[in-house]
Amino acid sequence: MNQHAVIIGAGVLGCLSALALADRGWRVTLVDQGQSGQESSWAGGGILFPLLPWNYSEPVNRLAMAGAALHPALCETLRRETGIDPEYQQCGMQILPKYDRDAALQWCRSHQCAVEERGDGLWLPEVAQARNPRLMQALRLMIALRGVTLVEHAQMLPLSLGEGRLREWRDTKGTAYAADIFVLAAGSWSQGLLGPHAGSLDMKPMRGQMLLYQVAPGTLPHIQYCEDFYLIPRLDGHILAGSTVEDVGFDKSTTPDIAAKLAAKAARLLPALANAPLVKHWSGLRPGSPNNVPVIDRHPQFDNLYLNTGHFRYGVTMAPASAEILASLVCSEKPPLELQPYTFPVPAGTQG
Ligand SMILES: Cc1cc2nc3c(=O)[nH]c(=O)nc-3n(C[C@H](O)[C@H](O)[C@H](O)COP(=O)(O)OP(=O)(O)OC[C@H]3O[C@@H](n4cnc5c(N)ncnc54)[C@H](O)[C@@H]3O)c2cc1C
Repeated sequence: MNQHAVIIGAGVLGCLSALALADRGWRVTLVDQGQSGQESSWAGGGILFPLLPWNYSEPVNRLAMAGAALHPALCETLRRETGIDPEYQQCGMQILPKYDRDAALQWCRSHQCAVEERGDGLWLPEVAQARNPRLMQALRLMIALRGVTLVEHAQMLPLSLGEGRLREWRDTKGTAYAADIFVLAAGSWSQGLLGPHAGSLDMKPMRGQMLLYQVAPGTLPHIQYCEDFYLIPRLDGHILAGSTVEDVGFDKSTTPDIAAKLAAKAARLLPALANAPLVKHWSGLRPGSPNNVPVIDRHPQFDNLYLNTGHFRYGVTMAPASAEILASLVCSEKPPLELQPYTFPVPAGTQG
């Protein structure tokens, strides 16, 4: 019989990990405490690029660029096989001052990233986006088509003491999930679910609030970025304006003061938004990790527990590559990227 994997968390990381293992012949059960794809993966902007890559380390950029390169084929497969279009589009991104011009041009040159200086800004024509809610709806259908069992509204409990081999993982209703391997992909909730086995993991939720406007399609043809604020135009005239990076724990509420600040920035960047109807205001919890580097590794205390979590600001971008790395680890294949930067953190002073 096929080997069985239980994956905890059906965000973009859990869904793509499930597909990567199912493609390798595994029987996969994907468990979520709510409905799949409704947390950070739904709330995000879907820019498939590390906003200002010259401000990030190579491990972040390598994983993000590897993920971005897999998105066109992934989104096309999803569109064709599920009938739901994640609206992948290479719309380009304009970066407006202030930014470090020399660092930006140098980074683009050394990473073969197309760039032009336009007016007082930079134009990056290859930057793409996907529409998160559609991406997640398509993934939900796709995992079913690939034979993955999705269990929703099952909240897993934190692990208790143990080591060696994890036999089962229980949910709050007392159901025990047994498997050959377990993959923890529970976003912001991952660290808590490890209970006493979190070790030196240092994750925390980082709230991001977002506004959604409706204007005439084509009003803004590309992503616009200015000083950690962006506008993302969808094909049907919706424009997302965001975001914030707030350290407020697991509080997912939205706040009027932030709405006002985001609206003022949006109107400054695109005056047409000053009087445009505001459709929605929401927030999501990014799985924050030190320096934005996720953990894609086997847990040091359990032979059959893997993590694919902590993707912070770029989880949607990184997810296709991250899932391939995870699957290569599980299946002892040659990994597509060097694994070392993404290993489970070892406490200072205990490294061999
Ligand atoms: C405002 C905002 C803007 C963003 N913009 C971008 C962007 O433009 N580009 C980009 O690449 N990324 C962006 N991101 C980041 C990206 O959305 C995240 O990095 C990514 O979605 C993380 O995916 P995940 O699967 O790890 O987490 P999640 O999507 O949060 O999924 C985790 C899942 O685990 C489940 N879970 C939790 N606890 C349990 C439990 N006890 N039992 C069972 N299931 C459980 C949850 O219900 C959830 O479905 C943005 C995020 C936000 C909030």
